[in-house]
Amino acid sequence: MKTCSKCGETKPIEEFYRHKELYRQECKKCTRLRNNKWLEKNPNYMREYLKNYHLKNKVKIIKRSVDWGKNNITKRRDISKNSATRQRSAMSDCYVKLCLKRRDFQPDQITPELIAAERALIKLKRAVKENDK
Ligand SMILES: [Zn+2]
Repeated sequence: MKTCSKCGETKPIEEFYRHKELYRQECKKCTRLRNNKWLEKNPNYMREYLKNYHLKNKVKIIKRSVDWGKNNITKRRDISKNSATRQRSAMSDCYVKLCLKRRDFQPDQITPELIAAERALIKLKRAVKENDK
């Protein structure tokens, strides 16, 4: 058992992160809280981190996904079919963003207002299509 220096609670040793042979003075819960607070104050850090991770490991990530797809052909097909249909019918932010990107909008140009406008436009186009049938 160990007492956390932050919240003062006494917890089992597994509730503390270890750095080599030493345990941290604060418990995992307090560490996570502190990290989350820090990330809230530095929203760009995570975005940059993930972007860099993706860039650095692009080949690895794609390869892993392709390999999985090869071994799970029917599953892969179902997933893409389902998610495409779901995204399309739900007109999620993600789907609308994709539509905007296809129309050559840069990610930093895509604002919530633009997404809302694009969504309205898609709805309108679909309604027109339905009428033509
Ligand atoms: Zn604590």
